[in-house]
Amino acid sequence: MKKLIRKIIIIFIFIACKLSFSQPYIPINKWQEKTILLIGAHPDDDYMSHATLALLNDHQNNIYILTLTTGNVGTKDLSISKNDLSKIRRQEQINAMKVLGLSENKYINLGYDDGRLEFADREEIIGKIVHHIRKIKPDVLMSFDPGYNYQVWHKSDHRAAAYLTADAVRAAEWHLMYEGDIIHNKLEAYAVPEFLFYGGNISDTNTSVNIQKYVEKKILSGSKYLSQWSSGWNKYLGSDINNYPEGEKDRVNKRLRERIRFINDIPVEQFRYYKGIPDGMGRSPKD
Ligand SMILES: [Zn+2]
Repeated sequence: MKKLIRKIIIIFIFIACKLSFSQPYIPINKWQEKTILLIGAHPDDDYMSHATLALLNDHQNNIYILTLTTGNVGTKDLSISKNDLSKIRRQEQINAMKVLGLSENKYINLGYDDGRLEFADREEIIGKIVHHIRKIKPDVLMSFDPGYNYQVWHKSDHRAAAYLTADAVRAAEWHLMYEGDIIHNKLEAYAVPEFLFYGGNISDTNTSVNIQKYVEKKILSGSKYLSQWSSGWNKYLGSDINNYPEGEKDRVNKRLRERIRFINDIPVEQFRYYKGIPDGMGRSPKD
């Protein structure tokens, strides 16, 4: 019995330490005037953080979104070309960002092919991400969670984006890596100090953002991705939802609403927060 109690106490202390190490000292809803860079694989990967981005934008934070691919294969509609889909998805992304209060000049797309990030030149992509990290100098970097003491499984482009971003963050802090940008473009080595990882295992999340005030905005921004979240996935009928079959708007809104996560009846977006040197982003404090 004593052993069991001791075990429970040790587990409790471990969890308490873990939480105290990883939770942001100042809650995310109090963050102000931070520069935030979100990196995703496709033009809609930022959707799972949209309410948090809207909140942060309202609180005078400076938000950039960098997407690695154009999203040019994400459809089942046989009549859409890759080029057309690239254009459609760029516009959907800009429209969604507008709902959040973000302008087009905060959107960067590296233009890689959807579905093939893992086969693209890693060194080249990392160099491009490093360039933007050094240029933007984010206080907080948001990305797919590469994992915490182990690698998280994501579908292909998401998997690639998680590790490419992690490797780029690490490279950006070393002045002799991708040094051409430093020598010729007057950029400096830069170590990102804080991270918010999305899309990882729920059990690894250590911070939740109350998005009560931003639920409707999140649904509205999500509804801009008509090629992804409506019957437009199978038959794209343009960017105006009124051109879709009757009841489409309700179906899209319902679908988006059902994806919202709740804790104790409060709608939330959850993240794994990490503060520290880039090399430690996937390591637990006990290492
Ligand atoms: Zn995606």
